[in-house]
Amino acid sequence: MLNIVLFGPPGAGKGTQSERLIEKYNLVHLSTGDIFRANIKGETELGKLAKSYMNKGQLVPDSVTIDLLKSEVMKHSHPKGFIFDGFPRTNNQASALDVLLVSMNTSITKMISLDVDEEELKTRLLKRAEVSGRADDANPSIIENRIAVYQKETAPVKSFYADQNKFFSIDGMGSVDDITKRLFDSIDAN
Ligand code: AMP
Repeated sequence: MLNIVLFGPPGAGKGTQSERLIEKYNLVHLSTGDIFRANIKGETELGKLAKSYMNKGQLVPDSVTIDLLKSEVMKHSHPKGFIFDGFPRTNNQASALDVLLVSMNTSITKMISLDVDEEELKTRLLKRAEVSGRADDANPSIIENRIAVYQKETAPVKSFYADQNKFFSIDGMGSVDDITKRLFDSIDAN
């Protein structure tokens, strides 16, 4: 299986690039943020809980997020692989994902991080807010908080994969097509 963790701060382009990767490599796209948003829309209990964290730019607790991810992974029988987008966001999540994949006789192939500078992230998120309707994109102080949470809680996950020689990063600035090409090159350079 080809299992890619697409990594990077909010606004790095993980969702956009995931769409291209699933098409080329025939993978399942798992975005915990998308799943939480679908639950908010469906007004489920999980949605209510997730919303209380998401609207402040905080992480949804690990226990909830890990259970959700596990049940989503198990929904797919014989997948070619997964793109994990927005997961793992903590070292606990990364460990739980490793254990889950081992139980399926597979593992993460690589984590690829999209490097984008902070000013560009803020610009992209505010622009996305105009079309996404996402409350967490529209408010500059929530954006600041999401970036701060990323630096403090999520960026350390890079070392988790670097320690396994699975961490790679690419330049996430420039056109969507250019970034896609860099990603394809990184994945194909096995
Ligand atoms: P995203 O769509 O990936 O930008 O995620 C939007 C929001 O959903 C985040 O700011 C978090 O509040 C929540 N979220 C998504 N994925 C996770 C995760 N793996 N762990 C904790 N919270 C998450």
